Amino acid sequence: MSDGTHMYFNTLRTDLPDIVLPTDPEYKEIAKAHLAFKAQQVKLEQSANEAKSAAPITDADTLELRSIFESDDQLLLPETDPYEVAVFVGNLNYVRKAPSAVCVPSTIQQVQLAVKWALSKNVHLTVKNGGHSYAGYCLNKGGLMLDMCRFKKVSINDAGTEVTIQGGCIWNDVYDSLKGRNLSNIIVGGQCPTVGVSGFTLGGGLSPFTRSYGLGIDNVLEMTVVTADGELLTLTRNETDTERRDLFWALCGGGGGNFAILLEFKSKVHSLRDPYAKVVCGPLSWDLSAPETRSQFEAAMKVFNDTVWPNELTVDAIWRYVGGKLMGEMTTIYNGNMKQCLEVIAPLLQFNPVNKLAEMGWHDWVVIEQGFDVKSPVYHTHASFIFGQGGITPEVTKAIITLVEDSTKLLNGRGKSHVLWDMAGGVDKDVSRDATPYYWRDGVYIANFKLQWMHPTMRPDMLKFMKRVRDTLNPYSLRGNASYVNYIDGAREDWQYAYYGENYSRLQQIKERWDPTNFFHFEQSIELPGFRKIPAPIYSNAPPKSLPPVFDTITHTSPVVFESDTTDIEPVVEVPDKESAAPEVTLLDQIAAIWDAFELPDPEKLWNLEDSEPSLEKVLMVLGGERVQATL
Ligand SMILES: Cc1cc2nc3c(=O)[nH]c(=O)nc-3n(C[C@H](O)[C@H](O)[C@H](O)COP(=O)(O)OP(=O)(O)OC[C@H]3O[C@@H](n4cnc5c(N)ncnc54)[C@H](O)[C@@H]3O)c2cc1C
Repeated sequence: MSDGTHMYFNTLRTDLPDIVLPTDPEYKEIAKAHLAFKAQQVKLEQSANEAKSAAPITDADTLELRSIFESDDQLLLPETDPYEVAVFVGNLNYVRKAPSAVCVPSTIQQVQLAVKWALSKNVHLTVKNGGHSYAGYCLNKGGLMLDMCRFKKVSINDAGTEVTIQGGCIWNDVYDSLKGRNLSNIIVGGQCPTVGVSGFTLGGGLSPFTRSYGLGIDNVLEMTVVTADGELLTLTRNETDTERRDLFWALCGGGGGNFAILLEFKSKVHSLRDPYAKVVCGPLSWDLSAPETRSQFEAAMKVFNDTVWPNELTVDAIWRYVGGKLMGEMTTIYNGNMKQCLEVIAPLLQFNPVNKLAEMGWHDWVVIEQGFDVKSPVYHTHASFIFGQGGITPEVTKAIITLVEDSTKLLNGRGKSHVLWDMAGGVDKDVSRDATPYYWRDGVYIANFKLQWMHPTMRPDMLKFMKRVRDTLNPYSLRGNASYVNYIDGAREDWQYAYYGENYSRLQQIKERWDPTNFFHFEQSIELPGFRKIPAPIYSNAPPKSLPPVFDTITHTSPVVFESDTTDIEPVVEVPDKESAAPEVTLLDQIAAIWDAFELPDPEKLWNLEDSEPSLEKVLMVLGGERVQATL
């Protein structure tokens, strides 16, 4: 675009010509539009930068917070056990992401006051429910974390058709209360009992019953939230006001932590098909280390991939090493009885899997995954891909097997990897792409590759390997770039399209209306319009050229002793010897200390430095991009 005095290359209005000259009748109009656009950009940039460079909490702030959260168990401060428990999310990659304080509200008013306080103080606020975000996005560095764990109520209406769930529940709370009422009752919730209902639902919500009843968001009837300016709103599916309808739309799949704080939601209750409330659950598995069973598995996968299965059947899959052998498992969940199930899966049974299917009550089938437990001191990272019908071709099957084998070699007994997918593609595929922010309605296999390891020095290799995983599997995913926001991948580029497809720009518009200062933000939060990337904050106190004195005060914690890993891979228990009990201060430790000293939020950037030979110059470049470099 020129400076506006000669001509405009019109990119704003499709109804006007591409090039507009001062002599054209549209010139005035397009000039005005461009000026308004520019002004808006500047405003957005300012507000985004203000929000991003949020202030750390001071002692005086803590005193103010005390007036909202009076008791010690509601305001948790660093170096206390309750604080450490609240901020530990079972992934050592995020131990540097430490909020200055954790607030544990128990009333709606406290949530509102905390939001208004953080807004007025420019303090970064994030919300934690189940703490299962793969990228630790419930945490923040130096701000305030609201832990919703006291919002635990679950109630069912008299007719038994709707359940109201508070935003601090994990799925186990919900299943327990449904079970107390009627064994046939089911809700579209997670298979893992410790996943938070809020994170799950705000990101879409994929369940073993999705093929029968849709995603979690397709079943939500009402949501009560606190917005970015502290307003309390209850929104329903039938909003007539456009802006309220938009917000409800955005909350139904636009991703946790983006638009508002979810206090509670109402969701439909369904009934199991079987009159005795039975389902069939369990694995069909093949040993992939033996050539014969491996080829049977590959043949079974081909049949599985080429068949359109009835909606009552969900076949999730997990491929991993069990007792030193690579196993291909199809986790089967059938909404019906055993006789019906066996008939439906007969085409798979002909390939002789080890069959551990059993008839049981749904509530007896919930799966706990190690790695998110506070007792698991491990590192893990994830990448996700959404494949369409027929997407797990023999080529993809082979690629996945190779990736699991190679990653296991790389891990060398000091961690584990797996690939799993959850199956969608039932009634959910009939919902239109723009009915909710979840764009990939033609997705059938929602896959997740996980690498888990035990020692910090392994991280560069793990991250490099995960890049290979992305490069290998991405091309086979829908449109070569489809990923599930609930299996969030902090290292993914072009995540906007990968998570939301063509719904992203509408999410941005709604963000602008409901959160114009970008109050709710994290590394992959919905950006304000016009902002593909919000620039990193400019640090006026750019770090000096020499290493800051913080290095003199580096203290060392003892090396982590790995507790017994309860999974099938043999744990490596590291007993610290004399040498490792007093490790040398590495350059990486020094960089980490800078990270802490400057209250930087983004550990992924630190990891990037681990990958190469770190130097102060590189640190400074990462700290502030070119602007800081220019001040050297
Ligand atoms: C073991 C395991 C199993 C899983 N199984 C499934 C599955 O079957 N189906 C599926 O769809 N997903 C599944 N997931 C993914 C899971 O749904 C997402 O990781 C989800 O974001 C976790 O929500 P959370 O509340 O536990 O996590 P948190 O880390 O607490 O929250 C996740 C995000 O939501 C925000 N948030 C949390 N609470 C609120 C709130 N009240 N209001 C606004 N924002 C909030 C956080 O700030 C954060 O950005 C699984 C994850 C794990 C680790």
